[in-house]
Amino acid sequence: MGLEESLPSGFLLSTVEQAAGWVRKASVFPATFGLACCAFELMAAGAGRYDLARFGMEVFRGSPRQADLMIVAGRVSQKMAPVLRQIYDQMPNPKWVISMGVCASSGGMFNNYAIVQGVDHIVPVDIYLPGCPPRPEMLMDAILKLHEKIRTSKLGVNAEEAAREAEEAARTA
Ligand code: SF4
Repeated sequence: MGLEESLPSGFLLSTVEQAAGWVRKASVFPATFGLACCAFELMAAGAGRYDLARFGMEVFRGSPRQADLMIVAGRVSQKMAPVLRQIYDQMPNPKWVISMGVCASSGGMFNNYAIVQGVDHIVPVDIYLPGCPPRPEMLMDAILKLHEKIRTSKLGVNAEEAAREAEEAARTA
C-alpha cells in the first residue's frame, strides 16, 4: 500500500516546489506599464467589468521593485527600449513577461526604423498574445496560461535562465 493510501483522509502529499508554484501563481503583481493603444484593453481588463482580482492580481504596482509581471501593452519604440529594459532589470526575480498585441510581439504594422521589431529583442518573453488589440478576455486567457507556467516552473529559475535552457535544449534536439 502506498503512503497516500495509508494516511487518514484529509491529508494531501505534495512537494515544496508544487506548493510554492500553487501559491505563486495566484499572487502575481503586474507593473503599471502601458505603451500604446493595447494599454486601453489592459486597463479595461483591470476594471470592474472583467475584474482581474478574481485571479489574485488586481493590484498593479507603481514601482518595478514590487512587481513580478511586465505586460508589454503596445509597440516599443527604439527610444523606449532602454527604459523598458531598465524597468525589467529593476523587477525582482522570479519575474515574467507577457507581450500583449502584435506590435509588442513583432512590430506589427510598424515595420520601420522607429519601432523595435519584437520586444523579445529587449527582454525574454513568457507569453505572446496575438491581436490588434487583444480583447480583455484574451489577456485573461494569457494570464491563466502564465499561471500554469508559473505553477509548474522550477524554484530558483528565472525567465532568462529558463529561456537560455530552452534555447540550449532546442539547439541540441
Ligand atoms: Fe495599437 Fe494594435 Fe499595436 Fe496594440 S497591436 S499597440 S492596438 S496598433
